[in-house]
Amino acid sequence: MGNNASRDIAIIGGGIGGLTAALAFARQDAVVTVYEQAPALTEVGAGLQITPNGARALNALGLEKALGVSGVTAQAVAPMDALTGKQITRFDLSTQTPPYRFYHRAALIDVLARACAAAGVTVKLGARVEKLQPDGSFELAGEQVKSDLTIGADGLHSVVRGMINTAAKPFFTGQVAWRALVKVENPDPIARVWMAPGRHMVTYPLSGGRLNIVAVQQRSQWAAEGWHHDDDAGNLRQAFADCSWDVKSILGDVEKANLWGLFRHPVAAKWHAGPVAILGDAAHPTLPFLAQGANLAIEDAFVLACCCDENTNLEQGLAAYQGLRRARVVKAISAANSNARNYHFGGLKRTVAHNGLRVLGKVAPNAFLNRLGWLYDHDVTK
Ligand SMILES: Cc1cc2nc3c(=O)[nH]c(=O)nc-3n(C[C@H](O)[C@H](O)[C@H](O)COP(=O)(O)OP(=O)(O)OC[C@H]3O[C@@H](n4cnc5c(N)ncnc54)[C@H](O)[C@@H]3O)c2cc1C
Repeated sequence: MGNNASRDIAIIGGGIGGLTAALAFARQDAVVTVYEQAPALTEVGAGLQITPNGARALNALGLEKALGVSGVTAQAVAPMDALTGKQITRFDLSTQTPPYRFYHRAALIDVLARACAAAGVTVKLGARVEKLQPDGSFELAGEQVKSDLTIGADGLHSVVRGMINTAAKPFFTGQVAWRALVKVENPDPIARVWMAPGRHMVTYPLSGGRLNIVAVQQRSQWAAEGWHHDDDAGNLRQAFADCSWDVKSILGDVEKANLWGLFRHPVAAKWHAGPVAILGDAAHPTLPFLAQGANLAIEDAFVLACCCDENTNLEQGLAAYQGLRRARVVKAISAANSNARNYHFGGLKRTVAHNGLRVLGKVAPNAFLNRLGWLYDHDVTK
């Protein structure tokens, strides 16, 4: 039995990172309580791509069967010319093990929440933690909560990150993003990246005949951060009004769209202090251009639990966790940052880039996966 068996763990935030951490610690016989501010464990209506690196950790926690039922297995990623509607090339994803899959966020949360309940995790809902003491304790409904380890999995606007780091100012990237879902019949299991000058749109299918849309546009004005702001679907259509019939037809079905500004945040310098640690977006919010925010949160959660389990001294375990994770996360975030630029070329650069992709797809069909081998082949369970 490892060291976590004698520990009790408080996790602030019941999102993907928090619930994965809860399950990982519970599998090592820790006593785990999750404190979630929302009145229910639900997720906003959007999709999520879980790549093999994230799936490996989830499978190691015993979720392989449940995940197979609720996800759509990806066959390929296809860069598209959004102006002509033509496919530029296609990179195969069907050989990935474990499979690369598309999920509705609510489905993934549901799988995690059920597994947590079965593993004996207590989830307290409507439990917003406002302030943490340096010893990790906090007050909730007039009671003092003190655990052996307090984990901040409280996302983008983390209270816990602010407690162990000096405040860092995020900056607006000059890009806004919409997300939307539309109904479609028998969508093919392909992630398409529709590229146009100054804009791009990613579409992929979810179970239940839905297509997930994330569309990004370069803009000089700011939009508020946080992705729950409603926008007129007409604004989204207008942004892609000069694109091909295929793009316009997808966007024509959008009834409800959410808009938010994309901000860049530095990766937190300190991921732990005393008996307090942070993970996922609380430690390193990322732009959605590599589909890794949730995958990295899942990896963090797994590694954090293992490092603590292997160390009698908790602070040594937390130091090992940051040591194992930070450089990888920095690399992934910087790769996500550069993707945005590559999707938005106009003029000659666009022609050269599209021709390059076309040739690459023919002469080196595995190029996409080879380039991302460091990301997708990583195995935190080893
Ligand atoms: C449009 C879009 C598409 C994306 N697509 C992908 C993708 O395809 N693949 C991928 O890997 N990632 C993707 N991401 C990123 C991913 O969604 C996030 O990185 C991931 O959800 C982070 O998980 P988390 O658990 O760290 O934080 P969150 O999911 O934000 O969860 C934090 C939780 O903490 C709770 N909370 C916050 N503060 C408190 C408090 N003080 N007290 C109690 N509870 C609190 C919140 O209510 C929430 O439930 C995408 C992001 C966006 C915006």
